[in-house]
Amino acid sequence: MTRSPDLRYNLVGATRSEIAALLGDIDPRPYRVEQVYHWMVRRLAASLDDMTSLPKALRLSLAARAVVHDPVIVEELKASDGTVKLALGYDDGVVIEAVVMAMEGHATICLSSQAGCAVGCRFCVTGAFGPGRHLSGGEIFGQYRAIVRYANLVGRPLNVVFMGMGEPLLNFDALARSLELLAETVSLRRVTVSTSGIVPGLERLARLDRRPNLAVSLNATTQKQRSYLMPGAARWPLSELLAALRAYPLERGRRITIEYVLLEGFNDSPEDARRLPLLLRGLPVKVNLIPFNPDSVHLPGLVAPGDERINAFAAQLAAAHLNVTVRWSKGRDVGAACGQLRSRHVTDRA
Ligand code: SF4
Repeated sequence: MTRSPDLRYNLVGATRSEIAALLGDIDPRPYRVEQVYHWMVRRLAASLDDMTSLPKALRLSLAARAVVHDPVIVEELKASDGTVKLALGYDDGVVIEAVVMAMEGHATICLSSQAGCAVGCRFCVTGAFGPGRHLSGGEIFGQYRAIVRYANLVGRPLNVVFMGMGEPLLNFDALARSLELLAETVSLRRVTVSTSGIVPGLERLARLDRRPNLAVSLNATTQKQRSYLMPGAARWPLSELLAALRAYPLERGRRITIEYVLLEGFNDSPEDARRLPLLLRGLPVKVNLIPFNPDSVHLPGLVAPGDERINAFAAQLAAAHLNVTVRWSKGRDVGAACGQLRSRHVTDRA
């Protein structure tokens, strides 16, 4: 369990046994532990005072040693299409970004798992800024809790995607902990973990009893392209990555999402569209084509193909019997689209 700035224990992300240890000499009865846990993970209580089913005396005793402390939303940017980019600050001054996309009938929350990223994908702003610290499982869950309350999403059908800042499989223990906590309120069938293709992490994910949906950011049809575009992921060759995907246990009816950022003149040729179905042959996949979202930090020369080229690429994949969708990004005008999130430190914000 982490500590808040005033050194009291932070209940956000606490396990049942940690809560039991905190309550030990106040009220050790198991149902009290369950009540506190329920308030934290299902009701998303913002404070001890919210826990109205606990006796006031118990809340006061608990307050002497524990707090409920989520990251603070320090900035909100609304895009013209309704997408909202939120900046959330943690106690050490680190600020990360997350995104909320409200759609008809449901909303999708895009979470960050690290305050930066060591993979260094050339099409990604987070990667351009380099590595940052891991977020703990409690910090990731706190991000979710803060966003759900802020955006009034309590009780609404939600999808959660780990497609924000960071490579979740390079922060595996925290990811696994946050998935356990999320599973208390969201079915893991509505949670997607997106990876750049960290093979040992995929193998660990495959061993979890309860697994989320899987998305893999592929973006290349040759090793040369992938090594250039995603230097930190290229350590695991395409052949190894595809073997790990073939071995990945999928429940019936589930597919792996293959993400493919389209870059003009780089990975959008008819030869690429011919090679991609061959690489993916026999895998239960759906392919999301994502036209590149430019940002001032990207290398000059990286541009999205025109709509005609994008549609032709998609048509060639469909003709090869791949399930393919073009994901026209949301939130581009506020830098909330795929690959546009960045970290900062509060002292940099002035
Ligand atoms: S795309 Fe994902 S893995 Fe690649 S640098 Fe960005 S955050 Fe990291």
